[in-house]
Amino acid sequence: MDVKKGNKLYEGKAKKIYATSDPDLVIQYFKDDATAMDGEKRGVIKGKGIYNNQISAHLFRFLESYHVPTHFVQTLSDREMLVKKVEIIPIEVVVRNVVAGSLAKRLGEEEGKELSEPIVEFYLKDDAQHDPMISEEEILERELATKEELDKIKRLALKINAVLKAFFERRKLRLVDFKLEFGRHNGEIVLADEISPDTCRFWDTETGERLDKDRFRRDMGNVVEAYKEVHKRVLGGPLV
Ligand code: ADP
Ligand code: UDP
Repeated sequence: MDVKKGNKLYEGKAKKIYATSDPDLVIQYFKDDATAMDGEKRGVIKGKGIYNNQISAHLFRFLESYHVPTHFVQTLSDREMLVKKVEIIPIEVVVRNVVAGSLAKRLGEEEGKELSEPIVEFYLKDDAQHDPMISEEEILERELATKEELDKIKRLALKINAVLKAFFERRKLRLVDFKLEFGRHNGEIVLADEISPDTCRFWDTETGERLDKDRFRRDMGNVVEAYKEVHKRVLGGPLV
């Protein structure tokens, strides 16, 4: 595809977004920068951008094969992915299969218990307000999405969970929880942003070892190695 890279439209914590010669398409550039604890902790995870770009591309393609609409168009380079430009719905959708992170704190429980059913949570994407949790009713009240869009988002989030949980099980990874972002494209709800060890918790099914951004958040060491291992299992694993 012959699209030319244009101006930088946005620079976030982990990615940059560039315009292209096609107004319907943008480029996501994956950086090595990492932040945690509401932006207080900053660092660089060498090569992370390359791993996350390739892991995300593989997962978007895989989800498309299950008829999950995504913004993915094609990989352009090590760190660049061509995607459909969407109007991002300013909500972070978190799906959980196992007690961990902020849910463990809220429940006052140890991390690691399998949930009887997956839990879907919504957080308002607003750094100034520290991304507070938000109810479905408040999403509607704020007119961030319509009822139909919200129902679609929830259905898609649970489908993505079912598809990815099985995918990662085949790669000996427990999909503990993850965060998704959705956008509007030609009136359709599509999965956007990324799916990577930055946005998911992955635990080795045999050893329980954490292979995700928690190694950075919690200063556990071997951060790059964890991203590399997930990359190897996703791209080098079974064909599906
Ligand atoms: P943050 O904004 O939280 O620092 P990133 O560094 O990941 O996050 O920046 C990427 C930004 O691009 C995010 O705000 C995300 O919502 C947005 N985005 C992701 N996919 C698309 C897309 N297809 N079209 C437009 N914006 C997108
Ligand atoms: N998550 C994310 N971005 C955020 C917040 C959470 O990608 O801004 C992901 C995180 O990687 C984990 C899941 O969402 O896989 C649930 O995170 P949790 O609420 O436990 O937050 P934490 O305790 O990690 O801040």
